[in-house]
Amino acid sequence: MDITLQCIDCEKQYDPLELRYTCDCGGLLDVIHDLDRLKSLPLKQLFDERWHSRSFPYSSGVWRYRELILPVEDQFIVSKPEGNTNLYPAGKAGEYAGLRRMFLKHEGENPTSSFKDRGMTCGITMARLLHADTVACASTGNTSASMTSYAALAGMQAIIFIPEGKISYGKLTQALAYGGKTFQVQGNFDDAMVLVMEVCKELNIYLLNSINPFRIEGQKAIGFEVLQQLNWQMPDWFVLPGGNLGNNSALSKGLKELFDIGLITKIPRIAVIQAEGANPLYKMWKEKTAFKPLRQPETIATAIKIGNPISWKKAMRGIEWSNGVVEQVSEQEIMDAKAWVDAVGIGAEPASCCSIAGAKKLVEKGVIHPDELVIGILTGHLLKDPEAVIRYHTGDLKSLGIESRYANAPIRIEPTLDAVREALYEVRRVSR
Ligand SMILES: *Cc1c(COP(=O)(O)O)cnc(C)c1O
Ligand SMILES: [Zn+2]
Repeated sequence: MDITLQCIDCEKQYDPLELRYTCDCGGLLDVIHDLDRLKSLPLKQLFDERWHSRSFPYSSGVWRYRELILPVEDQFIVSKPEGNTNLYPAGKAGEYAGLRRMFLKHEGENPTSSFKDRGMTCGITMARLLHADTVACASTGNTSASMTSYAALAGMQAIIFIPEGKISYGKLTQALAYGGKTFQVQGNFDDAMVLVMEVCKELNIYLLNSINPFRIEGQKAIGFEVLQQLNWQMPDWFVLPGGNLGNNSALSKGLKELFDIGLITKIPRIAVIQAEGANPLYKMWKEKTAFKPLRQPETIATAIKIGNPISWKKAMRGIEWSNGVVEQVSEQEIMDAKAWVDAVGIGAEPASCCSIAGAKKLVEKGVIHPDELVIGILTGHLLKDPEAVIRYHTGDLKSLGIESRYANAPIRIEPTLDAVREALYEVRRVSR
């Protein structure tokens, strides 16, 4: 293969077909492409030619960019196909954030309803290339939903480790349905992560968390696809939530590579948004201190409820490359933003709505200008976490300190026309 693995700390290189996730020194690994060779290819033209392809593998919004992602032969590729997600004008949700030109990239429109599918198609493809028969991950939910689906397609056994009682139904449902063997770990995500790394090492199982550098490669395609949807016009900002920090690391790596091969002339700025209760990257960036994991992360946005993110170093590097920022948002800010994203008819799970809550905060602070072109990434589908929606709209989140400011509760009525007339009159009066 035309790629190598390289340590982000000591730069030691490894064969991509060697089974390993970290360097001998413990550092994270990067997939390194031959950028000089890529420079000589008419990439934009290739990507644009494949844009409307209906055939495998270019019907995938990941494999359309294969030269920049993973140069493998078609026969190994496991694809659903993923990507090709919509880029919506944010409308009133953008106005809520104080922005005139905001778009929302809905990664919840992937096959298993989160962006994880973009990384997983590459991860499972590598698993096949390496003849793995069993794959595993620790997950707050979406990684397991994605991995179990792709593993089933590829005929592999999937083993997932989830934090006990802290995974939303939309996600657990998928993992069970797709046949993933599910271990509920008595502990939080960070405990499950430590366990799965040991399990994979000792039991010869292929690890598909975002420490796996091939997953990062697939997730780069979110940025590529946005640029292509914008006709290669450059946004000023990408805003996205940060949990284990693989996704923002992927986005920045992809944009940096496009810049290095001369396909774009500037790197858009990246804003990583964390929940206040799970904010180790924010603290490190804001206070310019050493990285310190958080013991007891807490947030309603379970997809980013992570205290010891694996990819913090890659995230910091990407923020530097993109002149980016890190911001934090409260539980109330997340759910208020979510109410807006949902009410405009787009909808997303709580973690995703950090993108809007964070953009709003950065506009208020004068970091993002109201006229800048801003892409908010919606990482997961609304139905991933129905409980958060129902509890919000029925005013049932007070115990978590969250007020239902934009509640839309069901209205109980008697089964008569008069009752409807009266209720509608009241609805219209209030909304006026
Ligand atoms: C995984 C996930 C995140 C966090 O992404 P990281 O790469 O872990 O930072 C955010 N939102 C949703 C919906 C996710 O599934
Ligand atoms: Zn190293």
